[in-house]
Amino acid sequence: MASPWGDVWSPQAERVVSRLLADMPPDLPAEIRSVAARLRALPIGPDLWSYYFLQASGEVAVLGYDLDQPEGVTVFTDPVRVLIMLVQGTRQYPELIQLLPIRGPNSVDCRCLAHPLFAERRAICWECGGLGWLPIVHAST
Ligand SMILES: [Zn+2]
Repeated sequence: MASPWGDVWSPQAERVVSRLLADMPPDLPAEIRSVAARLRALPIGPDLWSYYFLQASGEVAVLGYDLDQPEGVTVFTDPVRVLIMLVQGTRQYPELIQLLPIRGPNSVDCRCLAHPLFAERRAICWECGGLGWLPIVHAST
């Protein structure tokens, strides 16, 4: 199924992430800092066993995504995953807020808002990426 988000990356996004890469937070663990330098990617944060990075190219690089290869890097390009990185990343990098999609008049609330786990931001929604709304996509005729 096609994502309703289309392409969430832009030349502006590339510039913002490149700028942030040049000035990374000082409190990062040394290992994360070295992987970030190697991947030229912004550290976004960990989940249970892997660590997520956002590359200036708009790709999501995940360290240790494959449990059997903790040093391996898996790259994803699907728009929802990129969007999740942007939403999550705003906590640490407020400059990313300018890259979030802007809600239009035809957008609708995401159904995740009805669930406390999502509404309280304790789980990440794979439809809206945590924004709480979805753009309406009309089927092409
Ligand atoms: Zn949602």
